Amino acid sequence: MRPLILQTLERLGVEVKLGTAITGVDASGVLTSTGERIQTLTPIWTAGTVAAPLTRQIPGDKDRFGRLMVDAHLRCPQAKAIYAAGDTACARTDEDDNDDPNTVGSEAEYTKMSCQHAMPMGRYAGHNAAADLLGLPALRYSQVMLGTILDLGRHDAIFAAGSGDEAVVALSGAAAKPLKRWINETLIYPPRADDLIGALEAGHPVNRTVVPAGLGC
Ligand SMILES: Cc1cc2nc3c(=O)[nH]c(=O)nc-3n(C[C@H](O)[C@H](O)[C@H](O)COP(=O)(O)OP(=O)(O)OC[C@H]3O[C@@H](n4cnc5c(N)ncnc54)[C@H](O)[C@@H]3O)c2cc1C
Repeated sequence: MRPLILQTLERLGVEVKLGTAITGVDASGVLTSTGERIQTLTPIWTAGTVAAPLTRQIPGDKDRFGRLMVDAHLRCPQAKAIYAAGDTACARTDEDDNDDPNTVGSEAEYTKMSCQHAMPMGRYAGHNAAADLLGLPALRYSQVMLGTILDLGRHDAIFAAGSGDEAVVALSGAAAKPLKRWINETLIYPPRADDLIGALEAGHPVNRTVVPAGLGC
């Protein structure tokens, strides 16, 4: 995705400084690790995600973002009455259970702090918590869909199917924009509070999302 992203940013007049860290912010600008000073009254910081502080109260292993390490049923192994999902939980998205998410260069695939993972995780964790109470078998969390879609301004977006080194750009530019718009404006919203049937349907662990025709997928 990177070459296409850089092309679009260049066309939009956005200057990119790869491999450069921000070392200081003050009222009139920022200082970078190369010693450059950028004058601005409006610095916008978008880096650094961390799990909600509530996770600190739950015993068990955490990853470097403070997320609870959960098992294949999204249960906390050292606090078995607790299931975790979304940004608070780190789960394997592949079948191999033996690896450490904090190991740099680890080949293992883990959930990311993203809607794509949070939505199915919520469905599985909810299902399994209810199944636990009813004495029914739990379902193993599985991530059916993996991809990345990035908005690149008013007219452009980019969509890559798959993850990591295997990701393949499937749509880009104006062709990807309707898909991104549908995700942002429709897909990520839960049903209305009074739509009980819709809520049960949306919470079903088996993903029944249908991408509308004409969005390029
Ligand atoms: C600016 C921004 C842009 C993003 N863009 C994208 C994107 O384009 N694509 C993508 O995939 N992901 C994106 N994400 C990430 C995505 O929003 C999250 O991964 C996703 O919302 C996680 O879902 P969640 O249900 O785990 O947590 P949340 O959506 O954060 O929901 C957690 C809820 O729990 C509540 N809560 C927290 N603590 C407590 C407590 N102690 N008691 C009770 N309630 C509590 C919070 O108020 C919140 O309502 C973005 C995130 C941000 C901040």
